[in-house]
Amino acid sequence: MMTTSFDTVIIGGGPAGLSAAIYLARFRRSVLILDQGSGRWDTAEVNENYFGFPEGIHTRQLRELGLQQAQKFGALCQEESVSMIRREHLQDETQFRVQTAAQTYSARTIIIATGVRDHYFGLPEHQDFLGASLFWCITCDGPKTTDKKVVMIGNNDEVACTALQLLRYTKELTLVTNSTELNISAKWQERLNKFNVPVVVKTVIGLEGANHHVRAVVLEEGQEIPAEVVFNGQGAQPNSELAMSLGVAVDEKQYILTSDEQRTNIPFVYAAGDVTRLFSHQIVTAAHEGSMAAQAANYDMYLPEQRL
Ligand SMILES: Cc1cc2nc3c(=O)[nH]c(=O)nc-3n(C[C@H](O)[C@H](O)[C@H](O)COP(=O)(O)OP(=O)(O)OC[C@H]3O[C@@H](n4cnc5c(N)ncnc54)[C@H](O)[C@@H]3O)c2cc1C
Repeated sequence: MMTTSFDTVIIGGGPAGLSAAIYLARFRRSVLILDQGSGRWDTAEVNENYFGFPEGIHTRQLRELGLQQAQKFGALCQEESVSMIRREHLQDETQFRVQTAAQTYSARTIIIATGVRDHYFGLPEHQDFLGASLFWCITCDGPKTTDKKVVMIGNNDEVACTALQLLRYTKELTLVTNSTELNISAKWQERLNKFNVPVVVKTVIGLEGANHHVRAVVLEEGQEIPAEVVFNGQGAQPNSELAMSLGVAVDEKQYILTSDEQRTNIPFVYAAGDVTRLFSHQIVTAAHEGSMAAQAANYDMYLPEQRL
């Protein structure tokens, strides 16, 4: 029977969790990754900005390679969803109990790398297009819009700002609010107007297209706006509920607050990747934060005599 007691349990097996696992396993810590099987890494995206892959790399393939690397050094990975974490004080030691439908595991340290849930309101067919012609992040996929017909979906000043930034790649740009009320301030409406970006104040009811390629955004009453690329700017919700149940501090949008070394306010609990409050949510930053969380957790598990 598999052991249920680990130095570290990592919740989330995306780039952040796997990077943490690789580092911890190489520190000869016993590591379990619990992952419920899908995250932002799980799209048709070909990543073009992670260094070392001049031809780009599918994010699913990058994740598979990371998993193999973590397992090679001894990390275990189980496809299970964590429903609860409890903190217990046993004599001089803190222990965490991590519960899934199948099992309860115990750990000395916990790394939360659970990512976010993106909002795709009104885009029911979005999975077919996600990562191929439906994107959300200009840093990741702006270059893929070069000289293409682009529809940006969203309804606030940040979305208006991203739309204006996309003009560096394409002039064929329409902003659709996906709402019957305009929520963009007069200042940003003026700016959109100045650069001739049309704003359509209507609800989106779907996307048309085939083989992962969007052809049009369908609005209420059946109106279609031709599109080769759609940018979704409708926000995301961090998967920080488990962390919050442990008392981990979050910001006003519920992203986890950490120190520069990825420690949270709760001793022996660390967080990494898109679930943390960081301006730039990218694979490279998730991997960086995962490695930092692992180094902090490893340090905190040393005996007093092994610390500076
Ligand atoms: C369409 C698209 C295109 C992108 N393009 C790029 C790009 O070109 N370049 C780039 O750098 N980044 C890109 N990104 C962003 C990148 O994918 C994320 O920054 C990265 O995946 C974050 O890694 P993560 O490990 O923090 O989160 P995720 O990759 O989301 O992984 C989180 C994991 O946690 C698991 N999980 C959550 N809750 C639980 C639970 N309760 N129990 C068990 N497991 C749980 C999920 O199943 C998931 O596997 C893109 C994202 C999308 C959606």
